[in-house]
Amino acid sequence: MHMVFFSIELNKLPWRGGKVVTISPQYISQTCPQCDHVSSGNRKTQQVFRCIVCGYTENADLVAAMNILAAGHAVSACGEMVQSDRSIKQKPARVAA
Ligand SMILES: [Zn+2]
Repeated sequence: MHMVFFSIELNKLPWRGGKVVTISPQYISQTCPQCDHVSSGNRKTQQVFRCIVCGYTENADLVAAMNILAAGHAVSACGEMVQSDRSIKQKPARVAA
């Protein structure tokens, strides 16, 4: 259920600049925000994230939110996404799952 929520939020976030950002909900929820290790094994349960590499443990939804923010900043930092042309915002794109 919360996965759908994240997909919708990605379309709204202003730093995207209206362009497509493809972030898999699975990837988001399985990436360790501390060491960047990605594994389905990091999701011990639906609610709890626990990294199998570094042992980082946190609420799974919180981890997903942190990863979304991190991904957004990474996109913005690349330069290509930062544009002042407002017209590109008119067509919200879908986020591929
Ligand atoms: Zn880790």
